[in-house]
Amino acid sequence: MKIASILFPLPLPEPFDYAIPDGMYVEPGSYVRAPLGKIERTGVVWAVKTRAEDDTRDLKPVIDVYPVPAMPEPMRKFVSFAARYNVAHPGHVLAMVLRARGGLKPSPTATVYEPTGYRSNRMTEARVKVLDAAREAGPTSAAELARQAGVSPGVVKGLVDIGSLEAREVETDLPYLQPTRFECGEHLTAEQKTAGDELRRAIAKGGFQPFLLDGITGSGKTEVYFEAIAEALQKADDAQVLVLLPEIALTQAVLARFEDRFGAPPAPWHSGLSDAERRRTWRETAHGRARIVIGARSALFLPFRNLKLVIVDEEHDTSFKQEDGVTYHARDMAVMRAKLEDAAIVLASATPALETMVNAEAGRYKRLRLSARPGAARLPDIELVDLRLDPPEKGNWLSPTLSNALVSTFEAGEQGLLFLNRRGYAPLVICKACGERLKSPGTESWLTEHRYTNRLVCHLTGWSMPKPEACPMCGAKDSLMGVGPGVERVAEEVRVLLPQARVEIFSSDTARSGEETRGIVDRMAGGEIDVLIGTQIVAKGHNFPNLTLVGVVDADSGMKGGDLRAGERTYQLLSQVAGRAGRAERPGRALIQTYGPENPAMIALAAGDRDGFLQIERDVRAELMLPPFGRMAALVLSAPTPQLIEEAGRLTGAAAPNGEGVTVYGPAPAPISLLRGRHRIRFLITSPRDVDLSAYMAAWLKGLKLPNPVRISADIDPYSF
Ligand code: ADP
Repeated sequence: MKIASILFPLPLPEPFDYAIPDGMYVEPGSYVRAPLGKIERTGVVWAVKTRAEDDTRDLKPVIDVYPVPAMPEPMRKFVSFAARYNVAHPGHVLAMVLRARGGLKPSPTATVYEPTGYRSNRMTEARVKVLDAAREAGPTSAAELARQAGVSPGVVKGLVDIGSLEAREVETDLPYLQPTRFECGEHLTAEQKTAGDELRRAIAKGGFQPFLLDGITGSGKTEVYFEAIAEALQKADDAQVLVLLPEIALTQAVLARFEDRFGAPPAPWHSGLSDAERRRTWRETAHGRARIVIGARSALFLPFRNLKLVIVDEEHDTSFKQEDGVTYHARDMAVMRAKLEDAAIVLASATPALETMVNAEAGRYKRLRLSARPGAARLPDIELVDLRLDPPEKGNWLSPTLSNALVSTFEAGEQGLLFLNRRGYAPLVICKACGERLKSPGTESWLTEHRYTNRLVCHLTGWSMPKPEACPMCGAKDSLMGVGPGVERVAEEVRVLLPQARVEIFSSDTARSGEETRGIVDRMAGGEIDVLIGTQIVAKGHNFPNLTLVGVVDADSGMKGGDLRAGERTYQLLSQVAGRAGRAERPGRALIQTYGPENPAMIALAAGDRDGFLQIERDVRAELMLPPFGRMAALVLSAPTPQLIEEAGRLTGAAAPNGEGVTVYGPAPAPISLLRGRHRIRFLITSPRDVDLSAYMAAWLKGLKLPNPVRISADIDPYSF
């Protein structure tokens, strides 16, 4: 008698035991259904054991096994690792794997009809027409045959009854095209070839090998990792490759580039997919038929059968950090996943994260460099515009230098891009009469004025209201005033400056769907836009050959706040944005408006001295023992009242275990101290690198009893603080 221990996608402490009925084949990793409480649930078999002689427990039986290949052992180990490392329940991590649960069901099917060759003597004119259509069309649905023959679907049915047509069930998903082109890419530069060959050799040899592909923007990193992909795909008929990209970089243009190179479309995974598309990618990945999967961070949790290579493009991007639910960093988890799968991994970036650079310098990652753009393309000249010496006119946001450059660019028939990481018209609305700053209800966040929709919007929670005529506090009429610039206001200024120019905004308000995003990217690439004004959405990977001027409206906005990575992020974001210019024959120029040109991030940016900048950052962090030189974690608590949160903070602080080298700071108000009516506080925890901070956090949470409405969550290596 055998027992299956089943892990369910629920926050339960451990797997539960079930009896495996005679004749049912269950192995570790099988996707099964079993009763839990009063309902049947889907789970994964974590272990199969033989029942001990003296085990007299009354076990419920496994109900059913899904016809899907079992979750391979490296994937199960990965789920356990991700849970332990990120201080989460294994069931919560499994829930991320099973998000597209429909993928467990067989592919959708439809009935199609084909001629049998049997010619009955009971033919009518209508039947002959249908048979002709069926011969012409191949296997086709009844409705389609009837339509083509111009008769009613009943006629098709009649032909089946007399044996002239045969019905058959077929899978309706399009057949999954397999990649066909693995040869070396054409026209690689010498640098690209060297890097590509090195990757090919390592992958041909096999095993876990981490690489950092460190190449300036536009240096052709994609072509290089294409070499790695081509090599990995040839390792086995079902060899698979995972490419992780920031969600907003997952454009149609990128998918098309993969299809061109490998002769088959990759399987996509992102939030814009329909449920059916999601199920399909999940199923094809589990069956090993999807050979290249391109996705946003959660693609990391797809059930690959034979993963040979992982690519993390734009590896420095902060969108790889998941901050809701199970918090994890997809880049760091991807390295672990590759290790468990014994696969190669390539982290690619023009501005690698400090953590990644330190790993490369320590020899943990092999570094490959691309130092030039291919052909005539050059990196843009980056100039700082000191707003103290060159201020915009009153009510404007563009300095005379940037305005003039924009005018000349337009007059030369070239394109300009203005970057401002603020959606809407104005990031703050105040009442001129009473001085009130309008806040989002129950949330410590100001409302942003949006002119196109004439609404006030909370960017934290999404809450919004029509812009009121009178101040909600003092009732004064027409007293509300937007303060500070958003992209809408900059667009207004550009329209006055260049009335003939075609100006568009590129932000999550104008690019709400994949289609809208593609529309803007295509219009810009096709020269139908003269000036594009965008938020960080413009920084990503897009190629605009006629773009020669990039203007950064407010380089200082990201430097505020007590964020450990503020300088690093600003450097990364601005050099990515600047890197949009001059990607083809025409040279590019980037003008960066700042009130702090003496800031090391700005100086390094203008000098193109990335490594010098990273050196300063790393010295500061090494000195303070901050990541990656030490470890850091956060514990965030929330509760509906100030009294409760204070009580919870006291209890939690008192329960902190003693840990060698561990320091606990707090509680202090969290960076967002009030969210949707809940008060939030936070502890920060630091330790030397050799301390297992995950285990420390787990021990802390385990011993903790908090009153019911209090919520608590741990975050290893927190990003926003
Ligand atoms: P990165 O990912 O490093 O920013 P891409 O791989 O997107 O750069 O390449 C930038 C542009 O240069 C693309 O339009 C690409 O087609 C082109 N490109 C890449 N390699 C070459 C090459 N060897 N010769 C000519 N063009 C190239």
